[in-house]
Amino acid sequence: RFVLFSSRIKEILNESVLYMVFQKVLIANRGEIAVRIQRACREMGIKTVAVHSVVDRDAMHVRLADESVCIGPASSKLSYMNLGALISACELTGAQAVHPGFGFLSENANFAQAIQEHGIVFIGPSPQHIRVMGDKVEAKKTALSLGLQTVPGSEGEVSTLAEAESISTKIGYPILIKASSGGGGRGMRVCYQPSDLAALIESAGAEAQACFGYSGIYIEKFLDTPRHIEFQILGDKFGSVLCVGERDCSVQRRHQKIWEEALCPVLTENQRQEMYSKIIYAMECFGYQGLGTLEFLYQNGNFYFIEMNTRVQVEHPVTEMVYGLDLIRLQLQVAQGLPLPYTQKDLRPFGHAIECRINAEDPETFCPSPGKISAYAAPGGPFVRVDSALFSGYTVPSNYDSLVAKLVVWGITREECISRLRRALGEYVISGINTLIPLHLRLCDEPDIHHALYHINWLEQYLDLQR
Ligand code: ADP
Repeated sequence: RFVLFSSRIKEILNESVLYMVFQKVLIANRGEIAVRIQRACREMGIKTVAVHSVVDRDAMHVRLADESVCIGPASSKLSYMNLGALISACELTGAQAVHPGFGFLSENANFAQAIQEHGIVFIGPSPQHIRVMGDKVEAKKTALSLGLQTVPGSEGEVSTLAEAESISTKIGYPILIKASSGGGGRGMRVCYQPSDLAALIESAGAEAQACFGYSGIYIEKFLDTPRHIEFQILGDKFGSVLCVGERDCSVQRRHQKIWEEALCPVLTENQRQEMYSKIIYAMECFGYQGLGTLEFLYQNGNFYFIEMNTRVQVEHPVTEMVYGLDLIRLQLQVAQGLPLPYTQKDLRPFGHAIECRINAEDPETFCPSPGKISAYAAPGGPFVRVDSALFSGYTVPSNYDSLVAKLVVWGITREECISRLRRALGEYVISGINTLIPLHLRLCDEPDIHHALYHINWLEQYLDLQR
């Protein structure tokens, strides 16, 4: 079940590699991902520093850390995204490295650079790699130059209406207007006909300006029924890159993933191996170090690159379950300067894993549901993993993301995995707030889910039919 330890690490270490052993890592995040990173650190004998806002002072990630520092008020801009306060917290505690988790400053190249300028290790890729992939237009150009196919569309940003009209006519409607600075599905508009183009460009740009402070947009062909398939990679400073399989994250609402699987249930082994080779080649040419994910849309047998995330993903546990690997531990090891301990041949996926995102939201209306947890009991049993920072008596604040737990289940077959998921969801007690558990339970009984017959618009269509 577990990958073989390769002799590669010993070979490279014989050549006396300079690496740094982390004694103390500051985790610039909160919630379940902060706890997840602490767990890896603790198992590796690394001390952890938690940072927290005023409302998070009793949070699980603060309770479990070796040390904690309050870095500001509830607003994430003034706390978890406060670069100055984070650097001061490192100086104060003597942390040698910073793990950014996901969200907040995890893909902020200026943050990575500032950390490095203070002589602290940023656990992630170089600021340059973050910068290139953070600009979606630059990212597409880079992917193309590295031999990856992208969605047909404008070559770069579109600045005039005439240009937008001409490119949209060329690729054919419907088209998708996307913000170069986009993220989390914001600043995106589908346009079905030329007469709507001007107004939709205006509103996509305005949303991007409001969310990200930059209104630049580009245009892509709108694919109607693609799947979202993403590939996990990990690179070391010696120029080697592993592709740790793929995940199917097509079950989405408003471009937000809800349910994720590893491996993708519809790819053939040939398709898989062909993509792994292409991606490893591309990322080795790019010189990428650290964890990263390349996201593609998949339709009619073709993969189209859409973006790369230069950090750990929410859904990384499904990959860990099928490969028997701890991705955060590996991420910390390569950040310490160690070589990858495996070769691509050592990686052996086994069985199937599914993750359900348990958001503190109403399962019908999706309205956020913060509040006090009056009772909490997590499911257990074989091959059931819960990544969460919830406990009985905890109050879920309204200031942050609604993801409060991830239920991850493994099975030898996909069918077994779904049965186990249904059983585990049935055991899960979270009282006092609404969560998506009832929705996930319904999904477990959907024939389209059983047959893996879904695409990125499937969930919204399903929810519309239920209304
Ligand atoms: P973000 O960074 O905002 O998450 P992405 O480029 O990753 O934006 O796209 C998010 C989601 O939007 C994808 O998972 C997919 O569901 C949808 N999407 C993106 N590009 C297209 C496209 N060309 N056609 C159809 N859907 C798309």
